Amino acid sequence: MRENGRMAKVEHVIEALERLDVDGLFDYQSVVGWPEPPSGESMARKLSLRRLGQATAPKADGGSWESVIAEVEEAALSGPEEVPGEMLDVLAWYAPIHTHRRNWGIYIRESAVLDLAGRIVARIPGGRTTDRQTIWGAIRSAVFCLYHHEAFHHYVESFAIRLELVEKEPRYFPYHQYVYGRPVGEEEPLEEGLACAAQFRRREKEPGLRGLSHEVHLATERLLEDWIPRLGPGYRQGVALAVDDAFHKGQNSLSSQIQSASSNPDDDVSRWRLIRDDAYRGLCSCRTATYLVTDWGSRFRGAAVWGF
Ligand SMILES: [Zn+2]
Repeated sequence: MRENGRMAKVEHVIEALERLDVDGLFDYQSVVGWPEPPSGESMARKLSLRRLGQATAPKADGGSWESVIAEVEEAALSGPEEVPGEMLDVLAWYAPIHTHRRNWGIYIRESAVLDLAGRIVARIPGGRTTDRQTIWGAIRSAVFCLYHHEAFHHYVESFAIRLELVEKEPRYFPYHQYVYGRPVGEEEPLEEGLACAAQFRRREKEPGLRGLSHEVHLATERLLEDWIPRLGPGYRQGVALAVDDAFHKGQNSLSSQIQSASSNPDDDVSRWRLIRDDAYRGLCSCRTATYLVTDWGSRFRGAAVWGF
């Protein structure tokens, strides 16, 4: 994960995709089943991951921070056994450049962050806590937990765009139509299993989680271990795919699935090993295209908590 000067400007990517004419007639939205980005600033605000990366809890502001704390405490009452719903990609989702152009990016529901943070707090030994620093840690941990899943979807699109630029053939939509949209068995869509695996894999090196307390980190891992196996097919492979060897083999297979638009490509997938790390690097900076969907109410409360 290097997000630096090598990132492409999204305008340049959009221009290239339009010249290649790789869109075709295809109803992406109905295949993935994810929500559309909300229209208008009132419902989605750019989220400052830099702000979220700070280890110090916000100062009491006589309103928004206190109400956020109350909401997390409320969610923690669900207890250490409960998990969020079956659909992960409605709590947060990725809007691809292929379909949403300048509105591309990662959208994270505020209500989902607070709910997840509560479930993390509930898994800290000793039970419910009212410690503000712990609650802030759980919120940070919940945001990056969802971010890492959705960022993987951007890396997949980045991989597909690179193929399209080299091969001058549509790859992203055919893959969605014939592979992602027609999953067979427990292991598909493979992309979702790998995205869930990335939720485990990226935590250790995530700069935004520096200074996170050990107990919040462990409680988040416990939540993921409880939750991911209870998600739908594909997703629930995430725990098994989190180890290096399984993750890389899965990524090799996904690469061939995208290139061939087939669930069972008959080529030698090991060749991807040589270019995989470069080919999946984010083409644009999804870290600066991450939005908070303010469905819980911070838009009414002057949300100093979120840094906007
Ligand atoms: Zn997903």
